[in-house]
Amino acid sequence: MRIRREIIGLFVWIFVGCGPQPSNQVHEQTLFQVSTIDALMQGVYDGNTTLSELSQKGDFGIGTFNALDGEMVLENGQFFQVKSDGKVYRPSIESLTPFASVVKFVPEDSMKVTDLDFPKFQHLVDSLMKSPNYFYAIRLEGEFESVHTRSVPSQQKPYPELIVVTRQQPEFNISETKGKLTGFFCPEFVKGINITGYHLHFLSDDKSSGGHLLGFQLKSGMLKLDRIHKFEMQLPESGDFQSSEFKTDRSEQVKEVEN
Ligand code: ZN
Repeated sequence: MRIRREIIGLFVWIFVGCGPQPSNQVHEQTLFQVSTIDALMQGVYDGNTTLSELSQKGDFGIGTFNALDGEMVLENGQFFQVKSDGKVYRPSIESLTPFASVVKFVPEDSMKVTDLDFPKFQHLVDSLMKSPNYFYAIRLEGEFESVHTRSVPSQQKPYPELIVVTRQQPEFNISETKGKLTGFFCPEFVKGINITGYHLHFLSDDKSSGGHLLGFQLKSGMLKLDRIHKFEMQLPESGDFQSSEFKTDRSEQVKEVEN
Protein backbone atom coordinates (compact mmCIF):
# COMPACT_ATOMS: atom_id res chain seq x y z
CA MET A 1 0.00 0.00 0.00
CA ARG A 2 2.80 2.36 1.01
CA ILE A 3 4.78 1.54 -2.15
CA ARG A 4 1.67 2.15 -4.30
CA ARG A 5 1.15 5.56 -2.65
CA GLU A 6 4.79 6.43 -3.32
CA ILE A 7 4.48 5.37 -6.98
CA ILE A 8 1.34 7.52 -7.39
CA GLY A 9 3.22 10.38 -5.69
CA LEU A 10 6.10 9.95 -8.12
CA PHE A 11 3.72 10.14 -11.10
CA VAL A 12 2.12 13.31 -9.68
CA TRP A 13 5.60 14.81 -9.22
CA ILE A 14 6.62 13.92 -12.79
CA PHE A 15 3.36 15.34 -14.19
CA VAL A 16 3.55 18.61 -12.25
CA GLY A 17 7.32 19.02 -12.55
CA CYS A 18 7.64 18.23 -16.24
CA GLY A 19 4.23 19.28 -17.52
CA PRO A 20 3.50 22.44 -19.49
CA GLN A 21 5.05 25.49 -17.85
CA PRO A 22 3.17 28.80 -17.66
CA SER A 23 3.55 30.25 -21.15
CA ASN A 24 5.75 33.27 -21.73
CA GLN A 25 4.60 33.63 -25.34
CA VAL A 26 5.19 37.36 -25.56
CA HIS A 27 8.96 36.92 -25.57
CA GLU A 28 9.13 33.77 -27.69
CA GLN A 29 9.92 35.53 -30.97
CA THR A 30 13.43 35.70 -32.39
CA LEU A 31 15.05 38.72 -33.98
CA PHE A 32 16.58 37.40 -37.19
CA GLN A 33 19.46 39.34 -38.69
CA VAL A 34 21.40 39.06 -41.95
CA SER A 35 25.13 39.98 -41.81
CA THR A 36 26.59 42.68 -39.52
CA ILE A 37 26.57 46.47 -39.55
CA ASP A 38 30.38 46.53 -39.63
CA ALA A 39 30.36 44.40 -42.79
CA LEU A 40 27.89 46.85 -44.38
CA MET A 41 30.09 49.78 -43.25
CA GLN A 42 32.98 48.23 -45.20
CA GLY A 43 30.98 47.89 -48.40
CA VAL A 44 29.75 44.29 -48.20
CA TYR A 45 26.63 45.23 -50.20
CA ASP A 46 25.90 41.81 -51.74
CA GLY A 47 24.23 39.12 -49.69
CA ASN A 48 22.74 35.76 -50.58
CA THR A 49 19.54 35.82 -48.51
CA THR A 50 16.31 36.28 -50.49
CA LEU A 51 13.28 38.25 -49.30
CA SER A 52 11.43 34.96 -49.56
CA GLU A 53 13.77 33.47 -46.90
CA LEU A 54 13.44 36.60 -44.76
CA SER A 55 9.65 36.34 -44.86
CA GLN A 56 9.96 32.90 -43.18
CA LYS A 57 11.59 34.67 -40.22
CA GLY A 58 9.28 37.62 -39.72
CA ASP A 59 6.54 39.94 -40.94
CA PHE A 60 8.10 43.15 -39.59
CA GLY A 61 11.51 44.66 -40.19
CA ILE A 62 14.00 46.88 -41.98
CA GLY A 63 17.15 46.53 -44.04
CA THR A 64 18.61 47.25 -47.45
CA PHE A 65 18.98 45.49 -50.82
CA ASN A 66 21.93 44.12 -52.79
CA ALA A 67 24.18 46.84 -54.26
CA LEU A 68 22.70 49.04 -51.48
CA ASP A 69 19.70 49.78 -53.71
CA GLY A 70 17.45 51.68 -51.29
CA GLU A 71 15.84 51.23 -47.88
CA MET A 72 13.77 48.14 -47.01
CA VAL A 73 10.54 48.15 -45.03
CA LEU A 74 8.79 44.89 -44.15
CA GLU A 75 5.29 45.86 -43.03
CA ASN A 76 2.61 43.26 -42.20
CA GLY A 77 4.49 40.66 -44.26
CA GLN A 78 4.87 42.86 -47.36
CA PHE A 79 8.22 44.16 -48.59
CA PHE A 80 8.71 47.73 -49.83
CA GLN A 81 11.79 49.36 -51.36
CA VAL A 82 12.33 53.10 -51.00
CA LYS A 83 14.85 53.94 -53.71
CA SER A 84 17.08 57.01 -53.94
CA ASP A 85 14.50 58.75 -56.19
CA GLY A 86 12.29 58.83 -53.09
CA LYS A 87 9.69 56.54 -54.68
CA VAL A 88 8.39 53.31 -53.15
CA TYR A 89 8.65 50.07 -55.15
CA ARG A 90 7.50 46.49 -54.56
CA PRO A 91 10.65 44.33 -54.82
CA SER A 92 10.62 40.79 -56.18
CA ILE A 93 10.48 38.11 -53.50
CA GLU A 94 13.67 36.72 -55.11
CA SER A 95 15.57 40.00 -54.44
CA LEU A 96 18.63 39.61 -52.23
CA THR A 97 19.62 41.48 -49.09
CA PRO A 98 23.09 42.14 -47.64
CA PHE A 99 21.72 43.45 -44.29
CA ALA A 100 18.30 43.16 -42.66
CA SER A 101 16.59 42.57 -39.30
CA VAL A 102 13.13 41.00 -39.06
CA VAL A 103 10.84 39.55 -36.41
CA LYS A 104 7.32 38.21 -36.05
CA PHE A 105 5.80 41.32 -34.49
CA VAL A 106 3.65 40.60 -31.43
CA PRO A 107 3.50 43.89 -29.52
CA GLU A 108 2.81 43.52 -25.81
CA ASP A 109 2.55 47.24 -25.08
CA SER A 110 0.66 49.92 -26.95
CA MET A 111 -0.27 53.46 -26.08
CA LYS A 112 -1.76 56.57 -27.66
CA VAL A 113 0.74 59.37 -28.15
CA THR A 114 0.53 63.01 -29.27
CA ASP A 115 2.96 65.76 -30.20
CA LEU A 116 6.21 63.80 -30.45
CA ASP A 117 9.45 64.52 -32.24
CA PHE A 118 12.34 62.04 -32.58
CA PRO A 119 14.20 63.05 -29.36
CA LYS A 120 10.94 63.07 -27.30
CA PHE A 121 9.99 59.71 -28.82
CA GLN A 122 13.35 58.20 -27.80
CA HIS A 123 12.95 59.58 -24.30
CA LEU A 124 9.44 58.10 -24.06
CA VAL A 125 10.46 54.65 -25.33
CA ASP A 126 13.51 54.70 -23.00
CA SER A 127 11.11 55.25 -20.09
CA LEU A 128 8.80 52.40 -21.19
CA MET A 129 11.56 49.80 -21.51
CA LYS A 130 11.94 47.24 -18.80
CA SER A 131 15.68 47.36 -19.49
CA PRO A 132 17.89 48.71 -22.32
CA ASN A 133 19.59 45.31 -22.43
CA TYR A 134 16.90 43.71 -24.59
CA PHE A 135 15.94 44.16 -28.23
CA TYR A 136 12.69 46.00 -28.93
CA ALA A 137 10.68 46.01 -32.14
CA ILE A 138 8.96 49.39 -32.37
CA ARG A 139 6.07 50.69 -34.44
CA LEU A 140 4.78 54.24 -34.37
CA GLU A 141 1.79 54.85 -36.63
CA GLY A 142 -0.29 57.95 -37.04
CA GLU A 143 -0.53 61.42 -38.47
CA PHE A 144 2.73 63.22 -39.03
CA GLU A 145 3.21 66.95 -39.53
CA SER A 146 6.61 66.15 -41.08
CA VAL A 147 9.01 63.27 -41.63
CA HIS A 148 12.66 63.64 -42.65
CA THR A 149 14.14 60.59 -44.39
CA ARG A 150 16.97 59.50 -46.64
CA SER A 151 17.61 56.70 -49.05
CA VAL A 152 20.83 55.41 -50.54
CA PRO A 153 21.61 55.09 -54.26
CA SER A 154 22.50 51.76 -55.84
CA GLN A 155 26.31 51.28 -55.93
CA GLN A 156 28.73 49.98 -58.57
CA LYS A 157 31.73 47.76 -57.84
CA PRO A 158 34.29 48.33 -56.43
CA TYR A 159 31.93 49.38 -53.66
CA PRO A 160 32.81 52.47 -51.60
CA GLU A 161 32.47 52.36 -47.80
CA LEU A 162 29.03 53.27 -46.44
CA ILE A 163 30.28 56.50 -44.90
CA VAL A 164 31.31 57.73 -48.38
CA VAL A 165 27.87 56.83 -49.83
CA THR A 166 25.85 58.52 -47.07
CA ARG A 167 27.80 61.80 -47.33
CA GLN A 168 25.95 62.34 -50.63
CA GLN A 169 22.65 60.69 -49.71
CA PRO A 170 19.37 62.05 -51.13
CA GLU A 171 17.17 63.34 -48.28
CA PHE A 172 13.41 63.85 -48.31
CA ASN A 173 11.13 66.15 -46.35
CA ILE A 174 7.64 64.69 -46.30
CA SER A 175 4.91 66.90 -44.88
CA GLU A 176 1.33 66.22 -43.70
CA THR A 177 1.33 62.47 -44.08
CA LYS A 178 -0.17 59.38 -42.48
CA GLY A 179 2.15 56.46 -42.09
CA LYS A 180 4.17 54.06 -40.00
CA LEU A 181 7.63 53.95 -38.50
CA THR A 182 9.03 50.42 -38.32
CA GLY A 183 12.26 49.54 -36.60
CA PHE A 184 14.28 48.43 -33.62
CA PHE A 185 16.07 49.45 -30.50
CA CYS A 186 19.23 47.35 -30.09
CA PRO A 187 21.24 47.11 -26.86
CA GLU A 188 24.78 48.49 -26.50
CA PHE A 189 26.36 45.03 -26.44
CA VAL A 190 25.56 44.43 -30.13
CA LYS A 191 27.94 47.20 -31.18
CA GLY A 192 29.59 46.11 -34.44
CA ILE A 193 26.77 43.65 -35.14
CA ASN A 194 23.76 45.95 -35.45
CA ILE A 195 23.02 49.65 -34.95
CA THR A 196 22.83 50.26 -31.20
CA GLY A 197 19.93 52.42 -30.01
CA TYR A 198 17.14 53.41 -32.39
CA HIS A 199 16.98 52.55 -36.09
CA LEU A 200 13.65 53.12 -37.87
CA HIS A 201 12.33 53.37 -41.42
CA PHE A 202 9.22 55.28 -42.50
CA LEU A 203 6.54 54.30 -45.01
CA SER A 204 3.49 56.42 -45.77
CA ASP A 205 0.12 54.65 -45.74
CA ASP A 206 -0.45 55.55 -49.41
CA LYS A 207 2.99 54.00 -50.17
CA SER A 208 4.15 57.15 -51.96
CA SER A 209 7.08 58.03 -49.68
CA GLY A 210 9.41 56.67 -47.04
CA GLY A 211 13.04 55.94 -46.19
CA HIS A 212 15.55 55.69 -43.36
CA LEU A 213 14.32 57.95 -40.56
CA LEU A 214 16.32 61.08 -39.69
CA GLY A 215 13.61 63.06 -37.85
CA PHE A 216 9.87 63.65 -37.53
CA GLN A 217 7.09 65.60 -35.90
CA LEU A 218 4.05 63.48 -35.02
CA LYS A 219 0.64 65.00 -34.35
CA SER A 220 -1.03 61.93 -32.90
CA GLY A 221 -0.72 58.19 -33.18
CA MET A 222 -0.20 54.81 -31.60
CA LEU A 223 3.08 53.46 -30.24
CA LYS A 224 3.59 49.68 -30.05
CA LEU A 225 6.50 47.88 -28.42
CA ASP A 226 7.62 44.28 -28.55
CA ARG A 227 10.43 43.13 -26.24
CA ILE A 228 12.61 40.42 -27.79
CA HIS A 229 14.89 38.00 -25.95
CA LYS A 230 16.17 35.81 -28.77
CA PHE A 231 18.61 36.62 -31.55
CA GLU A 232 19.64 34.69 -34.67
CA MET A 233 22.24 35.70 -37.26
CA GLN A 234 22.86 34.55 -40.81
CA LEU A 235 26.28 35.44 -42.23
CA PRO A 236 26.90 36.01 -45.97
CA GLU A 237 28.64 33.43 -48.14
CA SER A 238 30.42 36.09 -50.19
CA GLY A 239 34.19 36.48 -50.50
CA ASP A 240 33.78 40.17 -49.59
CA PHE A 241 32.43 39.14 -46.20
CA GLN A 242 35.09 36.48 -45.76
CA SER A 243 37.91 39.00 -46.31
CA SER A 244 36.35 41.77 -44.19
CA GLU A 245 38.28 43.15 -41.24
CA PHE A 246 36.47 43.47 -37.91
CA LYS A 247 39.23 44.69 -35.58
CA THR A 248 38.49 48.39 -36.11
CA ASP A 249 35.89 50.02 -33.84
CA ARG A 250 33.49 51.69 -36.30
CA SER A 251 30.92 52.92 -33.78
CA GLU A 252 31.61 56.63 -34.44
CA GLN A 253 31.27 56.06 -38.20
CA VAL A 254 28.01 54.15 -37.65
CA LYS A 255 26.61 57.15 -35.71
CA GLU A 256 27.50 59.50 -38.57
CA VAL A 257 26.00 57.15 -41.17
CA GLU A 258 22.75 56.64 -39.27
CA ASN A 259 22.09 60.21 -38.23
ZN1 ZN B 1 18.13 52.39 -42.10
